[in-house]
Amino acid sequence: MSPDPKLQGKVALVTGASRGIGRAIAERLARAGADVACIATSAENASATVEACKAHGVNAMAYGVDVGNTDAVAENVKAVMADLGGLDILVNNAGITRDQILMRMTEEDFDTVVTVNLKGTWNFVKAATRPLMKCAGRIVNISSVVGVTGNAGQVNYAASKAGVFGLTRSVAKELAGRKVTCNAIAPGFIETDMTAAIDEAAATKLTESIPLGRIGKAEEIAAAVEFLVGPDGTYVTGQTLIIDGGLSL
Ligand code: NAP
Repeated sequence: MSPDPKLQGKVALVTGASRGIGRAIAERLARAGADVACIATSAENASATVEACKAHGVNAMAYGVDVGNTDAVAENVKAVMADLGGLDILVNNAGITRDQILMRMTEEDFDTVVTVNLKGTWNFVKAATRPLMKCAGRIVNISSVVGVTGNAGQVNYAASKAGVFGLTRSVAKELAGRKVTCNAIAPGFIETDMTAAIDEAAATKLTESIPLGRIGKAEEIAAAVEFLVGPDGTYVTGQTLIIDGGLSL
């Protein structure tokens, strides 16, 4: 158990927890004492994260759920509540890209990305609203700096991530009366499988355009999540925290 178990007794649900930013978030919340439900496309994919969380002395379980499937998400939230005894913290992190210039982007490219990134967030927020209202719960939605700035070749992704901002602010207003907070984080260029697909020359050029001169780490996003869902984040709601090394300046 963490020497400073700020989240002891809390149950957190993290989507996209098998790798990258989601795995770092799950481990960070476990280190702070939370029990963690780790969601990925299959339970097997999230099993290594579960073991890493358990190493912090907390309970953790893996679930396979397509975040874009409304019924499956509703069932998953019920299962997590039954298995872990409640739900206090929801982190919507699962996300995908299907990059293509607009003229070549298919309807399927658009629909698939919006379904996972935006509707997936809505699915979990909707399914978790009732339990979160009972415990002054916390919601953090992982968007992207591209949702703020736009990006050529990512019309679908940028639209889905910009949608997450509007959803976040609206949920914040709707649930504030029940002391539920809802915030978004907009990461810049973070070292994960998602960005490993970018070719070396483009990655070098992108890195050079970051004022802090380096790519970000998943742990740097996880640290901000811990703040927003912990005892120091109680008066922050409806906000977007851009964590991009200054890329969007
Ligand atoms: P990643 O390494 O590609 O991991 C994506 C995660 O999402 C995996 O756990 C994956 O599960 C899960 N996932 C994908 N589709 C899913 C679905 N339909 N249902 C359930 N889970 C699904 O991504 P990442 O780089 O860590 O990114 C995490 C989040 O941060 C995303 O929302 C991304 O848009 C955002 N973000 C990333 C960056 C960056 O530079 N990396 C920048 C800005 C924003 P499986 O392992 O089972 O496939």
